[in-house]
Amino acid sequence: MNTHDILALLPDVLARHRRWESRWHGFAPDATLDVPDETIAAALDSLFERLDDNYPFFHPAYAGQMLKPPHPVAVLGYLAAQLVNPNNHALDGGPATGRMEKEVTARIARMFGWNVHLGHLTGGGTMANIEALWVARRLHPDRAVAVSDQGHYTHRRMCEVLGIPCFEVPSDASGRMSVEALTRLLLSEKIGTVVATIGTTGVGALDPLPDILRAARTHGARVHADAAYGGFFALLAAGDDALVRADVYAAMRDCDSIVIDPHKHGLQPYGCGCVLFADPAVGRFYAHDSPYTYFTSDELHLGEISLECSRPGAAASALWMTLECLPLERTRGLGPILTACREAALRWADLIRASRELYLVLEPELDIVTYFAGGEAAAASDVSRRSRAIFAAAMADPVRPVYVSTFRIRTAILRARYPDLREDQEWATVLRSVLMKPEHRTHVAQLHERMEAFARACP
Ligand SMILES: *Cc1c(COP(=O)(O)O)cnc(C)c1O
Repeated sequence: MNTHDILALLPDVLARHRRWESRWHGFAPDATLDVPDETIAAALDSLFERLDDNYPFFHPAYAGQMLKPPHPVAVLGYLAAQLVNPNNHALDGGPATGRMEKEVTARIARMFGWNVHLGHLTGGGTMANIEALWVARRLHPDRAVAVSDQGHYTHRRMCEVLGIPCFEVPSDASGRMSVEALTRLLLSEKIGTVVATIGTTGVGALDPLPDILRAARTHGARVHADAAYGGFFALLAAGDDALVRADVYAAMRDCDSIVIDPHKHGLQPYGCGCVLFADPAVGRFYAHDSPYTYFTSDELHLGEISLECSRPGAAASALWMTLECLPLERTRGLGPILTACREAALRWADLIRASRELYLVLEPELDIVTYFAGGEAAAASDVSRRSRAIFAAAMADPVRPVYVSTFRIRTAILRARYPDLREDQEWATVLRSVLMKPEHRTHVAQLHERMEAFARACP
């Protein structure tokens, strides 16, 4: 069934829900909940008028930020449970979705080679990372966290919330954490946990995890993998025809904790992150008693191993439904979708390398492509000006707009590849495209042609 036909099943979901409700003795809904027809009609009109002001995240011409609509099967799964509205804090609040959450979490853990784990879903990657950092602090109360300067900005902020010193490790010309710099830091400071980013949010770079693990272990430090963006690309890492750096993904099984965002590359609506710990014994840090909940079962309640209290059972249902239809496999389900995204990036990088208008910034490691215009001997200030102008012109085109984003990068990184580029400022703004929809594979040629035309037209 194609995605349009799947959404046509929404009335079927509603009918099944009504059938479930009808098992209980009927009652008349209270009149205080009624809303007049014309009020709803007017509100819907205003709502759609407001929602009109959105970028077309669903369309292949949108390659701006890490955004796309959820898969329709996730929408069906979400709605089916949302109509019941279970709370995955405790099995009292949602026995069915609580079990689904444990199942999907175990499936994700197995994708990284973990047969044993402790983990659960979270509101997003930030919440998932704060849990990992909180456990890091509980294990090493007097030691710091190290994260690369390309790591997600929330790590520094969450360390502040938790009161953990946070050291920034410089990255190299590929956007990856410098292991030399990390080693120096491990020698000079008391580092308890190193955060390795598996797919930086800026350019999708993979930190050199095998080397990071070696360095960290030598100094008794733990390793947390922030794979919020890049985690699901693990599906493409196996075999002789690996489409991503296999050594990095293979090393994930040796990490102490992992964060992955199903609401980024797992086809889910927002509100779905996931944190995993290799050692289930860290569950002891969460120990608390709740006078309100945890009554109906001796089975583990997810609230007993989660910092958040209320969490949507619907998020677990949506992910469960998605993985039933699109399993975590290389050759069917999510694998072919990610393959298309990865190939789109490789294709566009090839086109840019052969272009006389656009210049590649970094070799893409996942599905994010960075490039600039103005020539390889331009000044950084001119590159930046052109990036901003092209970004705005592409989006404002009245006939066939293209949506990309901009990214600030050290001019030194550009100069590593283009030594003639003039460093008249320390930072340069370049163009960035996130190709996270499978349709991008067939659309990159058009996207490239359009961006070349906008570059050519830029004064
Ligand atoms: C997106 C992202 C985060 C933050 O996750 P949210 O789901 O936006 O809270 C953290 N780390 C990385 C690497 C990310 O890409």
